[in-house]
Amino acid sequence: MIPFNKPYLTGKETKYIEEAVASGKISGNGIFTQKCQKFFEDTYGFKKALLTTSCTDALEMCALLADINAGDEVIVPSYTFVSSALAFVRQGARIIFADSYPDNPNIDADKIEKLITEKTKAIVVVHYAGIACDMEKILEIAEKYNLILIEDAAQAIDSYYTFKDGTKKALGGIGHLGAFSFHETKNIISGEGGMLTVNDDRFINRSEIIWEKGTNRSMFFRGEINKYGWVDTGSSFLPSEVISAFLWAQLENIDDIQHNRLKIWNRYYEGLKNNPKISLPVIPDFATNNAHMFYIVCNELESRTELIKRLKENNILAVFHYLSLHKSEYYLQKHDERALPNSDHFEDCLLRLPLFYELSEAEQEKVIRIINEF
Ligand SMILES: *Cc1c(COP(=O)(O)O)cnc(C)c1O
Repeated sequence: MIPFNKPYLTGKETKYIEEAVASGKISGNGIFTQKCQKFFEDTYGFKKALLTTSCTDALEMCALLADINAGDEVIVPSYTFVSSALAFVRQGARIIFADSYPDNPNIDADKIEKLITEKTKAIVVVHYAGIACDMEKILEIAEKYNLILIEDAAQAIDSYYTFKDGTKKALGGIGHLGAFSFHETKNIISGEGGMLTVNDDRFINRSEIIWEKGTNRSMFFRGEINKYGWVDTGSSFLPSEVISAFLWAQLENIDDIQHNRLKIWNRYYEGLKNNPKISLPVIPDFATNNAHMFYIVCNELESRTELIKRLKENNILAVFHYLSLHKSEYYLQKHDERALPNSDHFEDCLLRLPLFYELSEAEQEKVIRIINEF
């Protein structure tokens, strides 16, 4: 069986976990957590990086930092994972779903402005498959209406956006706030895990407080204050050192991991680009490709269903995902259904192919051959 995903281990994970255990500090915000956070800040230019126990957690921190309250509206793409919306719903937000482009699952930047009302407080963008949304356009809209811009960069580690003036910025480092995932299905993993990035000075102090159960404990440990106490809302968002130690082993090998994933991605692209019955990912000029995912788009639901079956008969597991959130049972309990045809198109027609570090060339050739024969 060729699985859809196989978590990759660099070999150092358990060594670093042993080190963390032996150090006598296995709770959060220790040496490994700080090493990881510094790596992200130095490598990608985030003003502040805070590890969390998941991307969902990081998004919940975004909702608290953006001060989302009952009745506030938040614009979110419909074609995304539940957490992109749920984190804000928990604060009482009303979610206004936006559609994708016809040929790209990312939020259609030209359709955002007409969704804005007096109640709109934030825009959440999702860089699907690690490919950037049109950030320059979306930043302009956020500035014009004074909205908080949040990047769900769960899939977007080590990917960039280039502005018209040539400036290049890492995804997750462009909006006011960003959220990453290190779930085992992502490029860089720690089983479960995530990270909040803060790019606006206004939110930096408060982000640490919310991270540490509403206390100013981080400032206390840095010696900035002489006692710490309860000063704000928050939760226990920080991971233990065991998780951070695992993540550090991955980060030491990030270049190798990314290089290898890109090689696999390119092999799929070359092998499938002349197939007239499917469409392949579109990478706009302003975006880079971090090879998070290789997907194809079939012409209709029936052919996708048949193709999944054919691949399965050949022991290959390909999977589809994202049932449009605007049609989900939970959302429709409180909202009317709206038509978002492009989101529905990807729900019906997009198929993700196996992509993981140890996928062999022979296995990949087989996947390509079966799709092309089909
Ligand atoms: C994986 C993913 C998440 C959730 O990440 P967790 O770390 O599992 O909470 C959120 N949004 C998107 C777009 C994702 O792909």
